[in-house]
Amino acid sequence: MFKKCPMCKTIWETRNKFLNDETLKLVGYQKYMGLYGGGYLLFKHKAKSCGTTLAIKATSFSSGAMSTQRLKRIYKKNTK
Ligand SMILES: [Zn+2]
Repeated sequence: MFKKCPMCKTIWETRNKFLNDETLKLVGYQKYMGLYGGGYLLFKHKAKSCGTTLAIKATSFSSGAMSTQRLKRIYKKNTK
């Protein structure tokens, strides 16, 4: 299991399912100045009877330029 919504109990089994779920909207990035750097990505779950915000460690999406680029694209797409 990749992530479970604390509000409506929706479960995303894999990272790809999470990223491809159209009810999830990336709403922000919270920088975390820790030992490993990185931060949290904030997603809003726009499903019926939900609407909570999920914070997921950016490292959950793996580090490296590839995934960062991908997330930036998703973020741009969602904020248009
Ligand atoms: Zn939810």
